[in-house]
Amino acid sequence: MRIAIIGGGPAGISLAWFLKGTKFDVTVYEGLDDVGKKPCAWGVLRGIENYIEIPKESIYSEIKGFRIFLDGKLISEVRERSKLGYIVDKPLMLRRLGEKVDLRLNSKAVLENGKLKLNGKIEEADKVILATGHYSLSKDLTIPALQYVTDLNYDPEMVDMYFYSDLLGYGWIFPDPLGAKIGVGGYSSLEFISEKLKSITSGKILVRHGARVADFGVIEERLNGNYIGEALGTVYAVTGEGIRPSIISSKIMAHSLLEGKDFSKEFRNSKLYWSLQIHASVIKRAKASNSVKSLEKVLLRADPKLVVKFAMGDFGKLDLIKLFGSAIL
Ligand SMILES: Cc1cc2nc3c(=O)[nH]c(=O)nc-3n(C[C@H](O)[C@H](O)[C@H](O)COP(=O)(O)OP(=O)(O)OC[C@H]3O[C@@H](n4cnc5c(N)ncnc54)[C@H](O)[C@@H]3O)c2cc1C
Repeated sequence: MRIAIIGGGPAGISLAWFLKGTKFDVTVYEGLDDVGKKPCAWGVLRGIENYIEIPKESIYSEIKGFRIFLDGKLISEVRERSKLGYIVDKPLMLRRLGEKVDLRLNSKAVLENGKLKLNGKIEEADKVILATGHYSLSKDLTIPALQYVTDLNYDPEMVDMYFYSDLLGYGWIFPDPLGAKIGVGGYSSLEFISEKLKSITSGKILVRHGARVADFGVIEERLNGNYIGEALGTVYAVTGEGIRPSIISSKIMAHSLLEGKDFSKEFRNSKLYWSLQIHASVIKRAKASNSVKSLEKVLLRADPKLVVKFAMGDFGKLDLIKLFGSAIL
């Protein structure tokens, strides 16, 4: 059976990697001339190792601690002995994984009446899976994010997350081989986001870029076995983490294909689905009440370790009740 995957991001490449050497003949079509070109802060949380081997040479650093800021004020700082995650060189990671699968660059694909077309020519495939990221999502399912790469000399083991009482969104400073990646994303105008970004920027700006990020949780209409990754909505809405959940969605897709199971059922039964939808409901509630007060309260009062568990999608019902009260369930 020939499977065509459109999109060579973490979701598309990892799905091809999971299906390598199986009964499926898989090709990944990437529209650009290289992988990993989309702006991203390259943070990947721990747990990813249970799904995919990160090529060693693509690991820039191990994250051992984090700080949380509210309106520019430090409210918690945690340092662990064990790692919380990694900063990876995402293009290098995807290139290395891409070398092990049939990846075709410069191959912008279109689907016309269910037929896959490349440069106007029909490409035969028994199944087409869309891993096209935010590119295939409408604006109302995504938020804008802006990011600078600066030469700020930044601790490679730390990450900073910023939250604001006047912005439903988040900011970050992550270590980077060039210094630091500093960004802000949220439900606001680009001008406002840009102002917030300026307020946390330090160092000389080397790169300015931006992209949209899915922020509405899993898109139910797309749970039909044809979508994986951010194109399906697999981004944690409160933090913007999309690499690891996209790879996990591909693992679930690979398992469903190999076992002949219904992807939508398998996905809906997963911890990933449940935790993504809880994140999305926190954002929806904040949007509906037009206030970030409940998120603020959690950040100010809760045990920082519990906040991290929530941020990482590694929480249970009891954790949620401790954080938000029973109304969240
Ligand atoms: C500024 C910013 C910072 C971020 N930082 C982080 C972070 O630190 N950690 C984290 O976990 N997440 C982060 N994210 C989110 C993360 O980048 C994405 O959620 C993740 O890359 C999604 O993976 P994906 O494979 O589903 O989609 P993508 O990575 O978007 O890959 C989709 C690919 O499909 C290709 N494509 C699209 N249409 C076509 C077509 N028609 N034909 C062929 N190819 C096509 C695109 O060129 C792209 O390469 C960030 C996002 C932004 C915007």
